[in-house]
Amino acid sequence: MNTRLESNKKYFILDMDGTFYLGNQLLEGSLEFLKKVEAAGKQFLFFTNNSSRNKQVYLEKLAGMGCHIDESQLLTSGMVTIHYIKNTWQNPKVYLLGTPALEQEFESNGIQLTETRPDAVVVGFDTTLTYEKLEKACTLIRNHTPFLATHPDNNCPTESGYIPDCGAMCAFITQSTNVLPKYLGKPYKETIDYITSFLNCTKDELVFVGDRLYTDIAIGAQHGATSVLVLTGETRLEDLEKSDVQPDIIVDRLLDLTAYL
Ligand SMILES: [Mg+2]
Repeated sequence: MNTRLESNKKYFILDMDGTFYLGNQLLEGSLEFLKKVEAAGKQFLFFTNNSSRNKQVYLEKLAGMGCHIDESQLLTSGMVTIHYIKNTWQNPKVYLLGTPALEQEFESNGIQLTETRPDAVVVGFDTTLTYEKLEKACTLIRNHTPFLATHPDNNCPTESGYIPDCGAMCAFITQSTNVLPKYLGKPYKETIDYITSFLNCTKDELVFVGDRLYTDIAIGAQHGATSVLVLTGETRLEDLEKSDVQPDIIVDRLLDLTAYL
């Protein structure tokens, strides 16, 4: 296990829920960690797989917790998905299962939302999901419309326990259509490519920090970037024993990572 990060590790890609805050509660020491990163001449970027909200909503949520960041310091899986769609289809049209915030983000980025002959069906973390939307999505996918999903998380942690997330919604569609989605977000290559082009850096300079093994840690482990597990969220130490995905560094909480700077 490392005791110090190499000097070329310049960008901390921070997960939010379970890493920086828990629900609506900032985790102790989170703001201090950001200050220490900047004092060390390094940078941070928030990246969340949660596509139920858009960038503006997250910026307001963070500001409400006393964390004032620039809009260039936050990315979401929704943005990776928009980028992928625009690179894949010209004048793209999609059938989106998403919240009004995600719909607004797609439309403001020039993606038309339609039920009629879309280029793809896209599933986000749709907390406004209905049977009608699922039925339409299944019909389109059964008729060979490509099936995309913003991120693979099965559950989302809340103060009152887990709630079903995008992966669980996709499993419903897969069970009906026998088609698996192409997932974006963490841990997939499209996300690491998006982040390195956004920061104009190489993956060796990235340090992914998060609480979930199959997304936050896997993106580093599978693509040659450094990963740091915090124990403030989903993963407990005993989960590591039975996991193929292993972090480079384990800390109790985000603030403890300052010791490695
Ligand atoms: Mg998390």
